[in-house]
Parts: sequence; structure tokens; C-alpha cells
Amino acid sequence: MGLARMALGSGTRTLGLLCRPFRFVASRHPPTAAVFVRQISMEAQSVAARLNSSGLLRTQALIGGKWRDSYDGKTIKVHNPATGEVIANVPCMGGRETDDAIASAYNAFQSWSKLTAAERSKRLRKWYDLIVAHKEELGQLITLEQGKPLKEAIGEVSYGASFIEFFAEEAKRVYGDIIPSPLADRRIFVLKQPVGVVGAITPWNFPLAMITRKVGPALACGCTVVIKPSELTPLTALAAAELSLQAGIPPGAVNVVMGHASAIGDALLASPQVRKITFTGSTAVGKKLMAGAAGTVKKVSLELGGNAPCIIFDDADLDVAIKGTLATKFRNSGQTCVCANRIIVQEGIYDKFANALSNAVQRMQVGNGFHEDVSQGPLINEAAVQKVETFLQDAKSKGAKVLLGGKRHSLGMTFYEPTVITDVKSEMLISREEVFGPIAPLLRFKTEEEAIHIANDTNAGLAAYLFTTNMQRSWRVSEALEYGIVGINEGLISTEVAPFGGVKQSGLGREGSKYGMDEYLEIKYVCLGNLSGN
Ligand code: ADP
Repeated sequence: MGLARMALGSGTRTLGLLCRPFRFVASRHPPTAAVFVRQISMEAQSVAARLNSSGLLRTQALIGGKWRDSYDGKTIKVHNPATGEVIANVPCMGGRETDDAIASAYNAFQSWSKLTAAERSKRLRKWYDLIVAHKEELGQLITLEQGKPLKEAIGEVSYGASFIEFFAEEAKRVYGDIIPSPLADRRIFVLKQPVGVVGAITPWNFPLAMITRKVGPALACGCTVVIKPSELTPLTALAAAELSLQAGIPPGAVNVVMGHASAIGDALLASPQVRKITFTGSTAVGKKLMAGAAGTVKKVSLELGGNAPCIIFDDADLDVAIKGTLATKFRNSGQTCVCANRIIVQEGIYDKFANALSNAVQRMQVGNGFHEDVSQGPLINEAAVQKVETFLQDAKSKGAKVLLGGKRHSLGMTFYEPTVITDVKSEMLISREEVFGPIAPLLRFKTEEEAIHIANDTNAGLAAYLFTTNMQRSWRVSEALEYGIVGINEGLISTEVAPFGGVKQSGLGREGSKYGMDEYLEIKYVCLGNLSGN
């Protein structure tokens, strides 16, 4: 038994890396990364030890309040994207385990939905308090399995926790209605009731916040959930689930399964007990889930891919525009669905903006997210880097010019140089689809009408940004943009109090805010007749 395993003690399964501290996936490592890897492993070990001492190091699935292995004992590996090392083995589950998780959620629904709103609110608030109390460890876990810089990861914990706090408060405000009846001896009431068991499928880029944004309102309304986190980042989901138990959210109300995504998805879709699917991820998978939900006519909300335009007008305040563009483009190394994907710049300010952006991007430090001053972590995996390379190659072959970066970073692994490219055209792949990486592609436009046309020339419609000091223009353009979210002179638009979601093929429904509750509620009309008693 290794030193690290002893340090962890028993009770929870150890992280893979602790038994094999320097084991890594050979193909991902250039030889020059060896010293770097060793250093990170030490960090990973101390993160693991801290997590373990707070009981947050969970590597089994959660079904009916019990920590479970897969029924056939199979596991999948979770990697640290900064080093490639295996940080844990988690169960590789499928339909059978998912069916049991659904059954547990269904049982728990019978009692959870009958608690008073005040009682549910109290337990959610406790869950919020616990997440905040463990902000540091959860942030470290996010950095470990997702790669984003620690400061950003801790920011995600605060953001993620804010949904639990907000919906703990909203739980008490699920108001119904009384409608004046057209007949004198009748009364018409409208009740709002929880939809039932919810299947929540989440991606890797926000391992905590994408879960709390769904589970917070679901539990607040009285629903119970089966969560399927991304297999790339399941540890944060499991830690959050552990805290939900500690908060007194009853066994079975929150279940977490992971493994074969399509088998788990199919089980959730097939079950008549699952009344709602909420999903954040790719448009392709979202379409499959929407089609699959038709069989049992489930409620569906989808938060899918974007292709965010970021329009810089000649009259923009340059400093504000640079700050906002950096924030929206390079957050999580460009790996969010609201990251600017096309920076559309008016011709009068184009060169000045390109140079200023390039200067600012050059100052950004790339590296392991645990290191001080790093603002750009690794991409999630090799496939993500290859996608970035393909998009850049396509753009260059069609005339785009690399102003800064444009290649893998010398650190190796999945690190990529923050990049700025100019002379980008709408027909290039990088303008048609989400690059999901640290490339800022600059397109050029002449008139406001042209900017709106370029911005709307996509099937996506999640977030859009514009930078201008002209108030009339900011309203005109905001109203013309076919997007669910518009940031004016602002690159960071996500907050728990505002509705987040897209139009067109970017999705259905809204998350966060008072509107986020509606996704988990059914409306029931109750007619009280024969009031006169005759
Ligand atoms: P990304 O490219 O961001 O990983 P995906 O849509 O592939 O986006 O993944 C988002 C989530 O959807 C992940 O949890 C993934 O495992 C899950 N997923 C992928 N395919 C399916 C499927 N067929 N059914 C259910 N969930 C799926």
C-alpha cells in the first residue's frame, strides 16, 4: 500500500493516482512533460487528501442514498487533463443501474414532494451552506478533473452554489392562481405541482454549475432527480451529491449514475416514471434526446450549442470592448457555449481592435490550473485540440491570417496557445460551428445591417454580445439579434437571477431566475362546482 493511500485511510475508494502517482496515458505525454507531471501529481495528492478528510472524495455512484459500484464491476477512468494521469476509477454503469436509480427517485418523490415548501427550502439552504463551506475543496476538484484555473473553478463553485440558494428561496414562491369563473356556482383554481422524476444530463465544462442549475429548481419544486454527469468530470457531481445527503436531502431524492451515456440516456427516455429530461450539451445529442422523449411525451428542456457573435462597433469604448471580449472568449479556455465564437468588428476600428486584443491575449498565462497567475488551462482532451486544429487549418486555407498563437503550446498535453486570427469569413468552418477553444476569430463588417445579418446567419441562438456607446443602436441591435441572451458592453452574462437559454437550435426552456422554476412544474386546473350545494 502506498503512502498516499495510507494517508487517505479507509471508507472511500482511493483515487487511482494515489496508488500509481506517476502513471499517465503515454500517448498524451511528450517526454518533456515528465517533471511537470510529477509536480502536478503532488498537488493532486494533496487535493485528494483534503477531499477525503471532508468525505467529498466519492468514486461510486449514488443510488437510493447508497454508494454503489456498477453491477458488473466495470469502471472507467477519470483523467486530469493537465497531466493525463488517471485520477480515479468510477463505475461504468448502464440501463440496469439507471432503472434502479429511477425507481429510487420515484419512491423518494412520494415523500419529498409532500414536504412543505418551507421544509424543502431549509434543506436546500443547508446544501448551499455546505457547498460554500467546501468552496476551496470543490474548486480544487474542478481544477483537477476539468482543468480550469483554480480561481475560475472556485468562481464556478460560488456560481453553482448561487442556484441552490436562489431556488431555496423560490421554493416558497410557487404561487397558483384563482380565475374568475364564467358560472356563478363554480370556482376555478390553478395549482402548480412538481412534474415528478427528472433525468438531468450534464456536460464537463461546468462540472458543478450545470448540475445545480437543474437540480436546484427541480428539488425546490418537489421533484427528485437522476443525474448523469459527464464521464469526463463525474467527481464534482459525486461530491455535490454527498453534500446533498449531509444537508438532509433524503436518500433517493438525488441519484447519480455514470458510464455508458447512450444506455443511461435510453433508460431515462424509456421510463414512464421519468417525466422530464433536462440536458446541457451538444446539439446533436440534444436532438436525439428530444426525439427519444417523444415516446413517453416527457417535458424537455435543452441548453445546446451556441455560435455567439460579439459585435464591436466603431463607436465602442475600446477598453470596455477588449475587457468584455477577453471575458467572453477566453473563459474556461474558450470552452463554454456562451464564449464568443465570431468577433465581428466594424472596419473603422478593426485594426486598432485586432492589435489591442492581440496585446492583451499575449499577456495571458497558459499552464496548469493549480499554478498562480495561470488564466488558461488545458483543453479537456485530445479530440478538443484536434477540433481546434481542424478549424484553424480550414480558416487558414481560406485566407485567414494568424495574428497571434495558432499552435499547440510548448507545455504539450492539451495546452493550446491563445490565438487571434483575422480576415475570417462567414463561410469558414470556424464561423459556422463552435470552436470550443482559445481562438478569437475576427470578421469585418461595414454597416449595422450587415453586422446583424452576419450575427443571425446561424442555426444557433444562445448568447450574443455587442459593444457600442450609442444607446439607440444598443436597443435596435439587441432587439434584432435572434438570441436568447444579449450582453451589451458586457462579456459575463451568467447569473442565477436571470433566465439563461437559447432560441433556434440552441435549445428550449430557461435555466436560472423565476422562469427556471416553470420547467419543473405542471399546471393543474381545478374546477369546484355546485357551490350552492343544490
Ligand atoms: P460535449 O461535446 O460537450 O461532451 P455531449 O452532448 O456529447 O457534449 O455530452 C453532454 C452530456 O451528454 C454528457 O454527460 C454525455 O455523456 C451525455 N451524452 C452523450 N450522448 C448521450 C446519449 N446518447 N444519451 C444520453 N446522454 C448522452
